[in-house]
Amino acid sequence: MSQGLVTAAYIVAAICFIFSLAGLSKQETAKQGCYSGIVGMAIALFATIFSETVSGLGWIILAMIVGAAVGIHKAKKVEMTEMPELIALLHSFVGLAAVLVGFNSFIDAGDVSAEMHTIHLVEVFLGVFIGAVTFTGSVVAFGKLNGKIASKPLQLPHKHKLNAAALLVSFILLLCFVSADGSWFALLVMTVIALAFGWHLVASIGGADMPVVVSMLNSYSGWAAAAAGFMLSNDLLIVTGALVGSSGAILSYIMCQAMNRSFISVIAGGFGSGDAASSSVSEEVGEYREVQAAEVAAMLKDASSVIITPGYGMAVAQAQYPVAEITDLLRKNGTEVRFGIHPVAGRLPGHMNVLLAEAKVPYDIVLEMDEINDDFAETDVVLVIGANDTVNPAAQTDPNSPIAGMPVLEVWKAKEVVVFKRSMNTGYAGVQNPLFFNENSVMCFGDAKAKVDEILAELKK
Ligand code: NDP
Repeated sequence: MSQGLVTAAYIVAAICFIFSLAGLSKQETAKQGCYSGIVGMAIALFATIFSETVSGLGWIILAMIVGAAVGIHKAKKVEMTEMPELIALLHSFVGLAAVLVGFNSFIDAGDVSAEMHTIHLVEVFLGVFIGAVTFTGSVVAFGKLNGKIASKPLQLPHKHKLNAAALLVSFILLLCFVSADGSWFALLVMTVIALAFGWHLVASIGGADMPVVVSMLNSYSGWAAAAAGFMLSNDLLIVTGALVGSSGAILSYIMCQAMNRSFISVIAGGFGSGDAASSSVSEEVGEYREVQAAEVAAMLKDASSVIITPGYGMAVAQAQYPVAEITDLLRKNGTEVRFGIHPVAGRLPGHMNVLLAEAKVPYDIVLEMDEINDDFAETDVVLVIGANDTVNPAAQTDPNSPIAGMPVLEVWKAKEVVVFKRSMNTGYAGVQNPLFFNENSVMCFGDAKAKVDEILAELKK
């Protein structure tokens, strides 16, 4: 395939990726967005593999077969609740790839013209740095999301000074690397520092700020891919990396706004979270009342307005299908049923929207937190299904809480609140929830799907 044709294919692929991002920004068009992305990626792969500059086709096809087999196996097996950790793991691969491409480009630096040599060295150094930070940062995020690493922030003494020192020493090593016309010593020492820096950066971020970390690593992985694009002189990789990098940065900013956190503090490794996080409380703060499914069904029959606020527990229990059935049944009986979605509910941006769309809940009754928060006071019954941190009033009332200042769904303002969970355990941020002990709250203990199934059976009687 001639270079002109490859360039044309790259432009078409880049346009497909832009359409893909546009489609993914709305639930109604998300599927088309996915298809645009798939078409763009297929064109990009085809054009790259069959371009005249590429050799060793056999090896590439072999690697693709192995990669595709692992990918298909994993995609078929992964549970919806494991998606966030899978994404974190995939980000780590992008980081690792950028590091390996960087080393390879350094070894191959002989091919670069004399006038481009210094620029190439800077590209290699920055590419390896971003890649290494993304790699270990994503590995820690993977561990925190699947519970192998505690979600509590790591509190090393002088942690901000350590981060600043890592950046400063890496910059000095960059100067040494360029002035020595490329030095393995500087490159390797920087790689070790960047690996430690990435690890520390994410380890110091507390549980409640993890959503921002996931989108931030998404952004880093984009910049790592763009850096690899510069090293390989591949325009499409630069464009795609920049698209992922900037959309991830915009998402991180939106998530920070949703959680009332400063963007700079979160990306600087949980700056300012130290005191609040250390005062996290998990002990119970009063008495709670328990209800059975039959009583909840009776409450729902009497209610004229119901709001459902789902959270991570709904995803774990896969309760979205019976929840959708209950919604349908109540709506047919003339009850107003709506969903209130917190921006960081679940473990992935848009997690709840995906689950509800999967269960065919109509989009127009699924509302964002800002759209529904004023309506709780006029609502008869709120069903909190597997949500905890996102409905915790302590965010507004306890300035020492790790989630202080985070906007939450104000469910406690409704006449009656039913909380579905299995125990009195805390949510992801590790803080107890005073909502459970309110006079208008009742606890429906058990697996969310089993309980919602029981309620559905009662309603159908
Ligand atoms: P939480 O993690 O705060 O709480 C989930 C609740 O679900 C738990 O209290 C748990 O209680 C309950 N639960 C778990 N399994 C079941 C089950 N099978 N049946 C019934 N209940 C169950 O969830 P939220 O969605 O409210 O909040 C999300 C949290 O995750 C926030 O702190 C957010 O910052 C964080 N986060 C969000 C990300 C995102 O992008 N959305 C990414 C990373 C973190 P019990 O064990 O007693 O059953």
